[in-house]
Formats: sequence, C-alpha cells, structure tokens
Amino acid sequence: MIAVPVPVLLYHCVSPDPSSWIAPFTVTAHCLDRHLALIGTAGRTPVTVSQLRDGLSGAGPLPTRPVVVTFDDGFADTLTAAAPVLHRHHVRSTIYLTTGFIDGVSPGGDRMLDWAQARELADRGHEIGAHSVTHPQLDQLSRARARHEIQSSREMLQERLDVLVRSFAYPHGYSSPAVRRQVMEAGYDSACSVKNVVSGASDTPFSISRLTVTADLSDDTVRRWLDGSAPTRRRDERLLTKGWRSYRRLRHIATLSGGRS
Ligand SMILES: [Zn+2]
Repeated sequence: MIAVPVPVLLYHCVSPDPSSWIAPFTVTAHCLDRHLALIGTAGRTPVTVSQLRDGLSGAGPLPTRPVVVTFDDGFADTLTAAAPVLHRHHVRSTIYLTTGFIDGVSPGGDRMLDWAQARELADRGHEIGAHSVTHPQLDQLSRARARHEIQSSREMLQERLDVLVRSFAYPHGYSSPAVRRQVMEAGYDSACSVKNVVSGASDTPFSISRLTVTADLSDDTVRRWLDGSAPTRRRDERLLTKGWRSYRRLRHIATLSGGRS
C-alpha cells in the first residue's frame, strides 16, 4: 500500500551566490544536504517522476513511502553543486531543462548548464525532463507556438542527450486543459505543475503537484512535507491510485482507437 500523498520537491538554483533574480528560490548545497538527510530520517525513498508515474498507474513498482526531488530550468550548479550532494544521499532526481537556456546565462546572469554538463547529469542516472524552449506562460500562447515549445524541447533533448524524455514541467506552473492535451499529444506521459501542495487525489499524471523550495524555507516545514502533513486535499487521498489507474485505462483505450496510422 503506497502512502499518499507523495511529496514532490521543486528546487531551482543551488548556490551561495545567486543573482537577485533567482535568490528567493535558491538554497545552498549545505541546505540541500540537510533536506536530503531529512528524507532519510522520514523513511522516504527517492524515486524519479517517471518512476512515480509508473508506480501510481500500476505499470511499475513503487516504494511504500516515496519522495521525488526535482530541479527546474537547468542552472549549471545542478551539476556542480547539487549533483555531488544527491549522489552522497543516493538520490536520483528529475531535472527539467529549458532548452533555450542551455549554453547560456539566466536573465539574472547565473550560468546555466551546457550540453556536456546536461549529458553528464543524464549519465549519472538523473531523469531528464523538458521545461519548454523559452520558458513562456504556455496558456497565454497560440496553439501553434505552445506546440512548438512543448514538442521541440522534447525532440532537442532526446536528440542531443540520447535519452527518452517522458516528463514535462509547465514553465511557471501554468497550464490549461488545451496545454495539457498538447503535452500528452507530444508523447510525454507525465507533467509537473506547481501548486505548493503535496501531490494528492486531485492530481492526474499531467498535473503532478510540487512543493517549491524557497530560500527562507524552515527545516520544520520540510519535515512536515515529508511527514505528509503539508496541505493537501487529504480526505480524497484513497482515490489517488484509483484515479491514476482509471486514467491509464482511458489512455490505453484512446491509444487503441487512435493508433491506426
Ligand atoms: Zn522554470
């Protein structure tokens, strides 16, 4: 029996010296180290987003008390500062890359990953997900532009990194029914949003809730998240796995009826 809700943590920059642009969402490597130690204390087992997705939909095994660690945007310190700490704690994370940021700097001047560094993260066992090309608010774009952001980022990551990209993260957390449908049509089988609640019954594989880690977050709050006592629609928890299973059946039927070509 899987203990739900499942905390899905969202990190951005891991640096002692971030630009003011990303500083509110930055932690130090020492802070990340403390959080990952708390995961161990809470008896949680880290899994990737795709492992969570497979487990909840009945397509794969899942530990009794899972937790997911994710990183967004692709800061260079995901490799240089975060990865050594993750490795020490045996955590495989899911890293969502904005392809247009690769080889560049953030709007605040923070160094972003280059392609070789992104490849190294994949080689170290981290899951690579897509986070669009230019980080727009997808629900504000035309269908054609949204499709480009969603599809091209996946194709480019798959081609350049030689990995299967299964998961998408909505830039700024924003999506809409149309955007979620486009993500599904582009071949992803899960997507993460940001609701700052523990992933629970109202989630589908295309709206996995995440908890944003901020610079001023207390260890007590992290402890509460990991205990499962953070905000969620708790009375519906038992429906979580049931919801995912019925979703999987629906998708299977949709695939069968649409899979003629
Ligand atoms: Zn982002």
